[in-house]
Amino acid sequence: RGGLVEFSNDVLSRLYIMVKPDGVQRGLVGEIIKRFESKGFKLIALKLTAPGKAHLEKHYADLKEKKFFPGLIEYMTSGPVVAMVWAGKNVVKSGRVLLGETNPLTSAPGTIRGDFAIDIGRNICHGSDAVESAEHEIALWFPEGVAQYDRAVDAWIYE
Ligand code: UDP
Ligand code: MG
Repeated sequence: RGGLVEFSNDVLSRLYIMVKPDGVQRGLVGEIIKRFESKGFKLIALKLTAPGKAHLEKHYADLKEKKFFPGLIEYMTSGPVVAMVWAGKNVVKSGRVLLGETNPLTSAPGTIRGDFAIDIGRNICHGSDAVESAEHEIALWFPEGVAQYDRAVDAWIYE
C-alpha cells in the first residue's frame, strides 16, 4: 500500500487482541469486535479457544514473578477466550487507546475497559503492548497463520 512498509515500526502493523473469559461470559465479544471493526482495522484472524494453563503461562511469561500471576492464570483458564488479530496503521498504539488502562478504574469512558469493567483482575480484554510482543503473541496463538486479503474500503480509510 502506497508508501507504507508493511509490519515494521508500528506503521502498518498487527495486533493480538483477546476477549478474556469474563468478556466472553458477559456477552461482550461482539461489542469488542465492533470497536476495532468500526474504527477501520482489518480482521485477519479469529477463533474461540481454551488452550489451557501451559499456554496461558507462556502468553503471560513476562509476569511470572508477579504476586497476581497464579490468580491471573486461574482467571484466564476459567473459560474460553476469543483470540483475534487486527491489522492496520499504528494498530498497536491505537489498540491500547481503544482498550484503556490496565486498571479499569483509571480507564476513560469510551474505552473498552472504561466502559465495561471495574476490577483490574476482570478487565475483559487483552491487547499487545508493542509491535514485537504482538508478533510474538500472534505466533503463539495462531501457529496456523492468519488471513491475507485486500479491502477496497482501505482507500476510504487511509489517505
Ligand atoms: N493484572 C492483575 N493485577 C495487577 C496487574 C495486572 O490482575 O495488579 C492482570 C490484568 O488482567 C492485566 C494482566 O494481568 O490485564 C496483564 O498485566 P499487564 O501489566 O500486561 O496489563 P495489560 O497489558 O493487560 O494492560
Ligand atoms: Mg500486557
